[in-house]
Amino acid sequence: MPELPEVETLCRQLQQIVINTRIEKTCILDSKLTIPDCLEGQSIVFVNRRGKNLVLGLNNGKRLEIHLRMTGRLLWQQEGEKPPHSRFIMNLSSGRVIVVDPRRFATLSLVADKDQEDQLVVDALSPGCGEILREKGIKRMRPVKSFLMDQQIIGGIGNIYACEILYQAGLAPIRKTASLSPDDWMLVEKATAAILSKAIECRGTSISDWRDLFGHKGEYQNELRVYGREGKNCLRCGEIIKRVRFLGRGTWFCPNCQI
Ligand SMILES: [Zn+2]
Repeated sequence: MPELPEVETLCRQLQQIVINTRIEKTCILDSKLTIPDCLEGQSIVFVNRRGKNLVLGLNNGKRLEIHLRMTGRLLWQQEGEKPPHSRFIMNLSSGRVIVVDPRRFATLSLVADKDQEDQLVVDALSPGCGEILREKGIKRMRPVKSFLMDQQIIGGIGNIYACEILYQAGLAPIRKTASLSPDDWMLVEKATAAILSKAIECRGTSISDWRDLFGHKGEYQNELRVYGREGKNCLRCGEIIKRVRFLGRGTWFCPNCQI
């Protein structure tokens, strides 16, 4: 599932090629998607990211928001056949952007620029997010892993990076947020910044179907230190890494050095 580094990768790649280009034609290939006709004729004036959403700003002041959900991805093409599971095509003057999504959970929506009611959610890459998280978590008896993955609290972190962040911070996924000290939150902030930045540099994690805008695999799967490593030795203390199912998601951790 694309998380912050994957969406940020698409965002940066799109910024290089679609800014100030005109949407000439759109084509919906999936009846689940409804996109107003008014995209055609608009130019893309900016591309940015809000949590795990990709935001394309149009010159009429509206924004096209794309949420890739489980298996969605974007592909840039200048020629060739559209790939299997293509759901939406946006033809630009210089090429086309295709939404490819085998499981069909991705969503596209057109929103007015002022509709930013959840703008106040802190982004996982924001400096100082540790202090904001501490304030939000201090009174909650909530497992820190689900807290970090809650998009109403902090934008961008999903299962893979939550496991990696908590491993690096030395915190057990089930630790209640109210029990974390200010130093613990600092460690969470540092680990979040380091891991997400490195993952963006690597263009995301391709353990299943993730590909970047040009169809290339990311490389952060080679950097994972705990995710997917059950039965192997902890790289920090040598203990055996465990995998448990926690709140419906596979969760990897070291029972010795994550406390
Ligand atoms: Zn360990």
